[in-house]
Amino acid sequence: MLDTSKHKGLRKRLVEELIKKGIDSRMVLNAILNIPRHLFIDNDFEAHAYIDKAFPIDSNQTISQPYTVAFQTTILGIEKNDKVLEIGTGSGYQTAVLVKLNANVYTIERQHLLYRKSMKRLNFLGYSPKLVKYGDGYLGLPEHAPFDKILVTAGASKIPKKLLLQLKIGGKIIIPIGELNQEMTLIIRKSETKFEKKKLGKFNFVPMLKKTN
Ligand code: SAH
Repeated sequence: MLDTSKHKGLRKRLVEELIKKGIDSRMVLNAILNIPRHLFIDNDFEAHAYIDKAFPIDSNQTISQPYTVAFQTTILGIEKNDKVLEIGTGSGYQTAVLVKLNANVYTIERQHLLYRKSMKRLNFLGYSPKLVKYGDGYLGLPEHAPFDKILVTAGASKIPKKLLLQLKIGGKIIIPIGELNQEMTLIIRKSETKFEKKKLGKFNFVPMLKKTN
């Protein structure tokens, strides 16, 4: 498990590709440049780690495409010390990006195997979220709410109301909405009862499922 100059070179190329695709946050690009994505997928597939594609991980899930990670993170405008809830820990890669941006990260995963592996991996690589939780993200984390930002990494058929209500006033949630080809949706909580919604284009995610496995 090494991060070599070859990996660093491949990351540099990936970052250049993300810039071409429109990612303009220096902080986010810098996080991607420095996080060894190949250590978040199984060894045999190391060669795929720096291609801008989603890739299968355990439990029939995927590690999100680097562009998607960069896009969701950039749109949320993560700032130092933001309290951020991530739904769908998966490989832990998006979690690491949020930690690298100095956010206080809470992340939930419903697949026990992924939960266990990612917790170990993040710990081993020195990324320290505030909490990695095994549970159903539809419920959010009421005991730690409210959050500045919520980032959902699986596609939901509609916007989970419980998550909206765990946002601070002025807080933002980014969530792909729809069945197969989801619409990336940004919602800003304007007041106790008022929410503003923006649609940001089509993406492909694995589905957000109810309850735990
Ligand atoms: N952020 C991850 C993306 C993983 S894919 C990464 O970059 O690797 C989406 C993840 O959401 C999967 O691991 C899936 O198991 C998880 N998921 C789906 N429904 C969920 C739910 N209701 N609560 C928590 N996690 C969920």
